[in-house]
Amino acid sequence: SRFEDLNLSPELMKGLYVEMKFEKPSKIQAISLPMIITPPHKHLIAQAHNGSGKTTCFVLGMLSRVDPSLREPQALCICPTRELAIQNMEVLQKMGKFTGITAELAVPESNHGVTSARRAHVSAQVVIGTPGTLKKWIAFKKLGLNHLKILVFDEADHMLATDGFRDDSLRIMKDIERVNPKYQVLLFSATFNETVKDFVQRTVKDPNQLFV
Ligand code: AMP
Repeated sequence: SRFEDLNLSPELMKGLYVEMKFEKPSKIQAISLPMIITPPHKHLIAQAHNGSGKTTCFVLGMLSRVDPSLREPQALCICPTRELAIQNMEVLQKMGKFTGITAELAVPESNHGVTSARRAHVSAQVVIGTPGTLKKWIAFKKLGLNHLKILVFDEADHMLATDGFRDDSLRIMKDIERVNPKYQVLLFSATFNETVKDFVQRTVKDPNQLFV
C-alpha cells in the first residue's frame, strides 16, 4: 500500500517523504491510520513492538486530528519515561514540520526555575509527557482539556508497571471525560499482560483491536 491511500494532508505527506524519507507505510501504519483518522474515530488498542513503526501511527494520528487554527491543546501523548517523551517529540516535530502545528513537552523539571512558565497556559496543540507532570499541569489548570480529542498511550505495558502511573492515567482520563466524553484513545503496548488488559477493560469501550 501507499501513503497516498491514507487520506493524509499534503503537509503531512511532505513531512513523510521529505523529512522522514519514508517510501511506503509499514503494515501497522497501513491498517491503523484509516481507523484512527476516519470518523467515528473509534478507540484503538494495538499490540506493537519497537520497530513496527508504531510511533508514526500515533504521531500522524495526532497531527491529522488537530485543528491547526485552534491554539488549544487537542492531542495528548502519555509516555512512561522522559526519554521516550523527548524521542516522540522529536519525531512529531520532524513529521509535522510543514503543518504549523505546535507541541510542548510535559516532563519533570522541563520548566524548572521559570515561575511564569509554571503558571502560563499551554497553547500548544499537542502535548507529550509523563503521567505525573501531565496530571499536575491539569490540576494547576496550566493544561486545559476543553478541546482535547485524542489521547495516546505509548508503551502502556511499561507505564502500567510503574507505581502511581496507572492512577495518574486514570485521573487524567476522568478529567478529560468530564469535559469531553467523546475523546479518542489510542493505546500501544508491546505485551498484553493482565495489568494492561484490566486497564483497557476499565477505561476503553468498544475499541478496534490490532495485533500485528
Ligand atoms: P517505531 O516502531 O515507531 O519505533 O519505528 C521504528 C523505526 O522504523 C524508526 O527508525 C522509524 O523511523 C522507522 N520507520 C517507521 N515507519 C517507517 C516507514 N513507513 N518506512 C521506513 N521506515 C519507517
